[in-house]
Amino acid sequence: MIRLKFSKSKIVIGSSFEYEDILTIILLKELPDSFDAEFAVSGKIISGSDFTPTMKNLGLDLGATQKKDKETNKVQNYVCNINSKSPVWVTKDTMIQLMNKLHTNCYLLLDFKIYLCSECASNMVLDRTKKLYRCASCGIEQKKPKVEYSITTKSSPPRPTTKQKGVPKSEKQKLASKIKFCQATMPNTDSAKKLLLNEITSDFLDEIPSNFKQIELVNNYHINNLVFPPKELRKNSKLFRKMTIREGSLERILDVDGNCFETVIQFKI
Ligand SMILES: [Zn+2]
Repeated sequence: MIRLKFSKSKIVIGSSFEYEDILTIILLKELPDSFDAEFAVSGKIISGSDFTPTMKNLGLDLGATQKKDKETNKVQNYVCNINSKSPVWVTKDTMIQLMNKLHTNCYLLLDFKIYLCSECASNMVLDRTKKLYRCASCGIEQKKPKVEYSITTKSSPPRPTTKQKGVPKSEKQKLASKIKFCQATMPNTDSAKKLLLNEITSDFLDEIPSNFKQIELVNNYHINNLVFPPKELRKNSKLFRKMTIREGSLERILDVDGNCFETVIQFKI
């Protein structure tokens, strides 16, 4: 589920889990070519396999903690926590390489914020004593720079749970809380708009008008049938789950400024 709001100068995006990779990649791609300053990244990287060698190859000295299963003592997850108080400083190119190499087998739950000068597109650096941002190139000072590329992601994937605390939430409230998982902001440019629509709403491109203010996309998975593996595999519960084929449909509902469109995709995984 994802919501994109387009205003005159910026695009503000809120999404549920698993959109954070594509949003991070689009943000990095949208940074100007001339932007080569290092910026602070924090957050969490989680994976079932050890990704630290890849990070070392990129010159990032970040360790991962091994989370072991209490019963079997086998490593279940590798977790790298980058505290916002001691972030890692990276260039755009390093971040793009990191995303490309890790996004298929890691959860990259990252945060960063980049401000650029509205006059010369250089990096704006925070002057803590003056509480102002100053352009590293032309020296202009601004309290709150207008050109912002930022992403904030919650630090752990949502757990599948059926339990609900307190008053049951309405569909609208559920939606609103789900799209808080990842929040991103970037300047509203033709290329950003094109990249976002191509990546996120590729099956609706014919329906989307050239001018709109808000797009909301909801994905509903319906599993109709489970095809179980042969009996001899049923003793191993992990393998059993892995070998079970899910058949169903994915219903995608797109809302463009209140006009709804729908597609249904059949799947078997
Ligand atoms: Zn400047």
